[in-house]
Amino acid sequence: MELELWYTEQHTKNVRFEIKVNKHLYSGQSEFQRIDVFESKEFGRFLTLDGLMMVTEKDEFIYHDMIVHVPMATNPSIKNVLVIGGGDGGTVRELTRYSSVEKIDMVEIDKLVVDVCREYLPQTACKLDDERVRLYFEDGLKFVRRKENEYDLIIVDSTDPFGPGEGLFTKEFYGNCFKALKDNGILVNQHENPYYSEYAKSMKRAHVRIREFFPICKVYQAHIPTYPSGHWLFGFASKVFDPVRDINAEAWNSLGLKTKYYNTDIHVGSFALPNYVKELLESRD
Ligand code: SAM
Repeated sequence: MELELWYTEQHTKNVRFEIKVNKHLYSGQSEFQRIDVFESKEFGRFLTLDGLMMVTEKDEFIYHDMIVHVPMATNPSIKNVLVIGGGDGGTVRELTRYSSVEKIDMVEIDKLVVDVCREYLPQTACKLDDERVRLYFEDGLKFVRRKENEYDLIIVDSTDPFGPGEGLFTKEFYGNCFKALKDNGILVNQHENPYYSEYAKSMKRAHVRIREFFPICKVYQAHIPTYPSGHWLFGFASKVFDPVRDINAEAWNSLGLKTKYYNTDIHVGSFALPNYVKELLESRD
């Protein structure tokens, strides 16, 4: 009889998500979290932190396309970028495809995540050695406190708002991001899912806090099969650029970047939200 191994993640108290696993490739405990890498037939290799899905080889392109190309097509003059979290390297990989980007600072709290991804997930970690990338292993919350008027774009590629990621959903953090950005700066963050109530609360809270600082504050969506409910949101906040009004589709398309998910039609369409999500974002309680 063949023994079956399954990765199980609890998406809510009453809902589980499972992936059949061929091999448990790595398991370790850092100062901050438990780190695991699995290999599966359906999703290829995947990384989990504290038992929560971070990236899979099969669907990471959706998340990384949407977190990077939406701000880059809105302002093609972006040169200095700060990535907070993002230890798997997928966000940095997409940013390095732009020859116009001059500097990418990545602040990841957990060096072990980067070491493990370099070894087991070269698909995402492959550009962490690009000469424009500087890696800082520290808390992103503390890092942005020291920065002023420095970045054109900040991407918050974080874990969920508990454990080490908690500080990256606070008012203090968003205020410091505002200060760290230049006058035309953009902040993009992973914004949880609207479907399950626990996640929906976090995404609403994050939206209310970001709105206090940024004159333009929008939310956009993508379909990510391995995240809870498969419906994932991103936040887009900015000092001047509106991602739908100001998209520079011609400039982005002239770059000739080949992408598997993102295109300039999806860019505009992703800001059209279902009514229940709009209501969640607009409600005051
Ligand atoms: N795509 C992923 C998702 O939404 O599930 C996020 C991927 S990435 C692996 C998230 C990274 O954020 C982790 O490696 C974690 O160590 C890092 N992180 C969490 N809290 C942080 C903090 N306060 N400062 C910097 N990095 C942090």
